[in-house]
Amino acid sequence: MPIPSLTVYNTLTRSKEEFQPITPPHVGMYVCGPTVYGEAHLGHARGAITFDIVFRLLQHLGYKVRYVRNITDVGHLEQDADEGEDKIAKKAKLERLEPMEVVQRYTEYYRRCMRQLNVLPPSIEPTASGHIPEQIQLIKNIVKAGYAYENKGSVYFDIEKFLADKHAYGHLSGRIVEDLMSGSRALDGQETKKNSADFALWKQAAPEHIMQWQSPWGNGFPGWHLECTAMSTKYLGDTFDIHGGGMDLLFPHHECEIAQSKAATSKEPAKYWLHNNMITINGQKMGKSLGNYITLEELFSGKHNLLDQGYSPMTIRFFMLQAHYRSTLDFSNDALKAASKAYKKVMNGLKMLRSLQYEPSEIDTALDDEISKAVDDLYKGLLDDFNTAITLASFFQLQKKINLFFLKQKSTGAIREETFHKLVKQTTTIIQEVLGLIEEEDVNAEGLILALLDLYKEAKEAKEYAKVDQIRLYFKQQGLAIKDMKHGIDWAYEE
Ligand SMILES: [Zn+2]
Repeated sequence: MPIPSLTVYNTLTRSKEEFQPITPPHVGMYVCGPTVYGEAHLGHARGAITFDIVFRLLQHLGYKVRYVRNITDVGHLEQDADEGEDKIAKKAKLERLEPMEVVQRYTEYYRRCMRQLNVLPPSIEPTASGHIPEQIQLIKNIVKAGYAYENKGSVYFDIEKFLADKHAYGHLSGRIVEDLMSGSRALDGQETKKNSADFALWKQAAPEHIMQWQSPWGNGFPGWHLECTAMSTKYLGDTFDIHGGGMDLLFPHHECEIAQSKAATSKEPAKYWLHNNMITINGQKMGKSLGNYITLEELFSGKHNLLDQGYSPMTIRFFMLQAHYRSTLDFSNDALKAASKAYKKVMNGLKMLRSLQYEPSEIDTALDDEISKAVDDLYKGLLDDFNTAITLASFFQLQKKINLFFLKQKSTGAIREETFHKLVKQTTTIIQEVLGLIEEEDVNAEGLILALLDLYKEAKEAKEYAKVDQIRLYFKQQGLAIKDMKHGIDWAYEE
């Protein structure tokens, strides 16, 4: 079967384009990962979930995807600038830990949260500190090409030279080069770069600096932008298919990555640039200084003064998927509570779908067509720039049809057997495998639920109403309901 046409929004061209990988069926995707100096928060979840959907959909469509997402464990300085302390070294000092203990702790935290959110691990998760020789080699190549200069043990990218050779800089982010060159921040004489727009490829380390390596320019450490160019080209080649990241990385980070690649190889690093939008909290930007910074564990547990309650990982995932990844998404307790309900509705729909049996009867051609089309519609949103919001809306339309069968208002035999299997299989696959929405462990304890249902039946027959009420209450607390159905007693998610 040919792979259906997929449209992606390319930040580089500011337009939607048909996705055509360089060497199908292979797809190389690089996404900027976390700087592991603190607990992962909502913003991390949005980026990871966005590209998890890209990864899952491409694989579902039949592509062989190599997905590289790095861990920044050195070189990322405060305010994403060329000056200031290394974020990890600063945290290590504060917590009286080795920098690599900080890295280990927050990498594990990040991975644990991602597992809970059902985010698949990437194919390769390289670290900046594990690729120092590759980064040094890349700097040598840039210096050799004439686009970098050394000064007092640091090496800087030479923007003026790069522009003089008619290379575009600022194209991806839409920044005007003249503004960058004049610089909002004048050089204060302390700095060792020629122009304020130049950025560090290698920084000389003071003797007391804890993370430093030997290089041809003396002891130091790599600039933050460099690691992504070194690791993406190492694992995916000079030009690969997709480069992803948050919109906050457009400038300077991604702009610098493009400049580094072009300087070293004369090639564009990526064919498609995809960027996910940011999360606001009650309409405000999220930030440590604003006191509205919520870590993922706080979200799961509800232990934060902005939270009314804890929200399960699948609720968070569902909340993210309800919006298109390029739209801003505003977090609020009300929005999360609505997402929790809607998520349970989807799980309920799948449970109903799985319980259906095919019973041949007279075929209703109009209904058959309608259902077949509704199932195909689940793909529409996803194939249109990964619009999960549209796919979920299509699912809720389809659920009305599932209800018809479940409530026995229509026989499953009213549609062709082939359509019935398509309905069950395709719908389940899209929700569980492509959107990654699965039943959570606490509600997935079906064995326990069934045992409790037996107890409920016994209590009801014995007219032990106190016990009956108690079991009903327990179900309610779990977001479940006991239903007295025609076929007997069963449970469902509370609507
Ligand atoms: Zn990066």
